[in-house]
Amino acid sequence: METKLKGRIALVTGASQGIGRACALALAEEGATVALAARNEAKLAEVKAEIEAAGGVAETFALDVASEESIKAGAKAIVERFGKVEILVNNAGITKDGLVMMMKKADWDDVINTNLTGTFLLTQALIRPMMKNRWGRIINISSVVGRTGQAGQVNYAASKAGMLGVTRSLAREVASRGITVNAIAPGYIETQMTAVLDDKVRAAMMTQIPLGRAGSDAEIAASVVFLASEGAGYITGHVLDVNGGMFMGG
Ligand code: NAP
Repeated sequence: METKLKGRIALVTGASQGIGRACALALAEEGATVALAARNEAKLAEVKAEIEAAGGVAETFALDVASEESIKAGAKAIVERFGKVEILVNNAGITKDGLVMMMKKADWDDVINTNLTGTFLLTQALIRPMMKNRWGRIINISSVVGRTGQAGQVNYAASKAGMLGVTRSLAREVASRGITVNAIAPGYIETQMTAVLDDKVRAAMMTQIPLGRAGSDAEIAASVVFLASEGAGYITGHVLDVNGGMFMGG
């Protein structure tokens, strides 16, 4: 086991599967104690068992980022258990795709509430103790779609672009307290979220990726570990593209 993050307390939302699970495993591998948050408690328990089997430390917290009450109660329980959260990974996210002409307001609301408002509310619930601690890392999992837009995803793209605005604004607000705030914009990563795409869409996407392959959840997790580390202490307000070259932005 590595020790880059030894003694640090981390919280990962959407830790029950996919990218969040991979981030939790990687942070624990580096010595952090990890609070695992999501709705599916049985899956969280599996991730906790996996971390413990590898010699790490983790605790599960049932938390629905689309519910303000759940966020408040979850944040309180986590701070009561560990005293603070030093590394916050806002990863929980959903898609509800559809062309604008067809999109129901409920689908717009669900995606914005989960991805964007959830990020805001959970960050708000944890920022005071983090500021008191005078050290923190907030890492928001956005998307390449938040940079480029995507037909059929106005709700998702708006939520992910919104996360970039949150990242840059909050980075300015809390920099004087030793807290960095960064975003990662993954490209096409093999998880359950992308497993639903049909082969045509998948093949079309591949032609847009210079590295010629999908990314893995572990490759996103490696960037999260980097941004959480001491070595990344002079990086804030940054958007890290982890997309195989799909979008080469500024
Ligand atoms: P995934 O496999 O579908 O996992 C999504 C995670 O979010 C699950 O753990 C889920 O847990 C959690 N979640 C969803 N709604 C939640 C809620 N209301 N409260 C708490 N947790 C909730 O997707 P993924 O691919 O790992 O995606 C993770 C993040 O990366 C998302 O923000 C996604 O937008 C972003 N991303 C993914 C890709 C990609 O290609 N896969 C690309 C760019 C960005 P429960 O169901 O247990 O609550």
